[in-house]
Amino acid sequence: MYNFKRISIIVAVLILLPSVFFTIVQLNSMNETEKEIELIYKNRLNTVVFSVNQFSEDLVNSWKSVINSAIAAPEEQANTKISTLVNNESSISALIFAGSNGEISNSFISEGITDITDAIVRELLANNAKIFNRLRTYKVEEYFKNEPLGNITDNISALVFLTNSDIARYESVILLIDADEFVRGLLSPKIQEISGQDLQISVTRGSGGSVITSTNDANPRDADLSDDLWLLKDYNINISIKGVSIDDLVSARLYTNLGLLLLLNIFITGGAVFLYVSVKKQVEITQIKSDFVSNVSHELRTPLALISMFAETLEMGRVRSEEKKQEYYTIINKEAGRLSRIVNKILNFSRMEAGKRTYNFSQNNINHLIDEILFTYSFHLKNKGFEYTFSKDETLPYQECDGEAITEAVINLIDNAIKYSSDKKKIEILTFRDRDNVAVSVKDYGIGIADKDKKQIFEKFYRVSTGLVHNTKGTGLGLSLVKHIVDAHRGEIVIDSEPGKGTNFTIVLPLNVKEREESNA
Ligand code: ADP
Repeated sequence: MYNFKRISIIVAVLILLPSVFFTIVQLNSMNETEKEIELIYKNRLNTVVFSVNQFSEDLVNSWKSVINSAIAAPEEQANTKISTLVNNESSISALIFAGSNGEISNSFISEGITDITDAIVRELLANNAKIFNRLRTYKVEEYFKNEPLGNITDNISALVFLTNSDIARYESVILLIDADEFVRGLLSPKIQEISGQDLQISVTRGSGGSVITSTNDANPRDADLSDDLWLLKDYNINISIKGVSIDDLVSARLYTNLGLLLLLNIFITGGAVFLYVSVKKQVEITQIKSDFVSNVSHELRTPLALISMFAETLEMGRVRSEEKKQEYYTIINKEAGRLSRIVNKILNFSRMEAGKRTYNFSQNNINHLIDEILFTYSFHLKNKGFEYTFSKDETLPYQECDGEAITEAVINLIDNAIKYSSDKKKIEILTFRDRDNVAVSVKDYGIGIADKDKKQIFEKFYRVSTGLVHNTKGTGLGLSLVKHIVDAHRGEIVIDSEPGKGTNFTIVLPLNVKEREESNA
């Protein structure tokens, strides 16, 4: 048993430890994978934001190149071209040139716009002098950056860039853009195109988040990513994946992975338990086999020792009285009978195990079979100090059964009653009829059988391993043979037993085995 414990611990360590380790590693890497997935999604959304912003830049740059080419022409032509641009582009509310002296040099106000005054523009110029300076340093590097200046009214956004002209009055351009119009009229088609089937994109204004444009019923509140529009301060672009959020996606994957991991662990644990049970069973069988060999040897040794001792005494001619000789012959005969019973039991068992045991059914009367048993056994019983009674039901009919096998079964029960009795040496045998069945019971007043053992005692090699039984040798085969015989007759065995009080085994056999077999078939 010590060995078995060690084996169990080794099995547990070998199987469960790697699985625990694997689970921990998996859980860790799962976390990382989820983070990576989240990052990939976020990156994708960032790219979308970038391309919308880039598109806005491109639009402004296209106006910028119109302006640059216009101001390269003589002033009158330039003014016409720029007026056309301002009037044609509905998102341009005004275009104002500022000179290198920081003063307004020319203004083009779109038709119908009334709320843009010189005062407002001057304030812009004065407030953003630093930005103008910065743009001038960029210009040296040939970089003409578009710089947002914020909103001058609710939806008019200001934007400044330097021209490529060296003419002082054309140094910079302030674009006043109708931002809502810019978003709806120019960005919206692009956003629709980018969003495709699976993205929801919206553009909102201010902290209140009023929606200027949106695709696929996007709700900016559920956005996975919100970012500023570069050119329109105060405007946000919001993106989410249609239907599910990134968190949903990630947690769905996480749950699937966790589920699979759990399943895997259940399988591994199941396997470990199965292995444990099998190994345990194997160890038990090995133990049982070695007990069996020692039990059988012991069972054989006692009669053999007696036979050889009495035979030797007789052989040496030391026994004078005829009476004594007779007594010794009887003992030798009795012990030889005991030997052959043990050997027969083992042979029958091995035939039964090999599935080769056959039964020869013929008409028998159970009462007669028991009478015969008692005739041969009465001496043995009395010799052992047993008192016995046989109450027979005289009305029992002849019935189809294997007489020899039934005799063997009843002898095994009587043998056990003898073996497992202690002080009260009394055996009661009873036959009776119960509807279509005939029953034989063998009752003793011995050590009894605990409830927990009642089922197992019919298993091959099983012996109750506590208390008095230890002192009684046996093979553990008797009851399994009885069960095999009773099963072959389609009957059943009933145990009524109480530890310390005694045991009553009843074999119930159907009167008509054939009929029973057919109705069972
Ligand atoms: P064996 O008697 O050779 O050990 P059996 O198969 O006949 O094997 O019996 C199995 C076990 O059932 C016995 O070891 C014993 O513990 C228990 N047993 C059988 N018959 C009785 C009985 N009449 N009273 C108490 N225990 C019994």
